[in-house]
Amino acid sequence: MRGEGFAGFVGVGVEGEPVVGVVGAVAVAGLDLPVVPVEPDPAGVDAAATSATAPAESAAAARPRAATEAKRLHTRLLTAVKGSHNGGASRWGRLPALMPLAAQPRKRLAVLTCMDARIDPLSILGLELGDAHIIRNAGGLVTQDAIRSLSASQRLLGTRKIALVMHSGCGLCGASDDEFNSLLASDGAAPDWRLGAFQSVTEALLLGVARLRASRELPHRDDIQAFIFDTDSGVLHAPELIEGASG
Ligand SMILES: [Zn+2]
Repeated sequence: MRGEGFAGFVGVGVEGEPVVGVVGAVAVAGLDLPVVPVEPDPAGVDAAATSATAPAESAAAARPRAATEAKRLHTRLLTAVKGSHNGGASRWGRLPALMPLAAQPRKRLAVLTCMDARIDPLSILGLELGDAHIIRNAGGLVTQDAIRSLSASQRLLGTRKIALVMHSGCGLCGASDDEFNSLLASDGAAPDWRLGAFQSVTEALLLGVARLRASRELPHRDDIQAFIFDTDSGVLHAPELIEGASG
């Protein structure tokens, strides 16, 4: 498998095609994970989700329920872990059985993408467990820490290619760094990072590609693919103007 390269990924499409592979976020080959079953929960999360429109609940009443929810989530996660160790199904769905995999990604690929809950990077890129490093943060931005991870990926674990995937409807698109900083300041926080809000996902993607290509921390910058994932349609787009960002 090693040396097979990027074929599965490139097959999704590059080179300026406005619309590339069709990859439903759920209905794709790959991990084939079923939808997570959710049990009826009249007094729990679902009820809490609608409480915004309900009469305000006292903090004292909400506290025990929050504790119950936390315990329930913990139990679900433990059940899922147990299921995966047994190589069988869990209440969360079928998890990949533990298998001997090399630490070096088979496709010598590192993917940088957003933490958005609607994105399953392996599925949308037609990858399988063990194929690629997956690096995620808010926005899929090329931050210093993303570069740190990519540098380790290339220098320590043999990856040669990078896929940068941003998406429609990102929480950072249209947000404001200044307003976010005000929120932080109101809580007495003055971090040395910025939110990294942007107004155009395409421009942000181009900026990310440019940053990657300028990062000497990365010895391999020749094969950088950039995509925008449409979270409504499940289609990956390869913006034509990415071509203009090369060099
Ligand atoms: Zn996002």
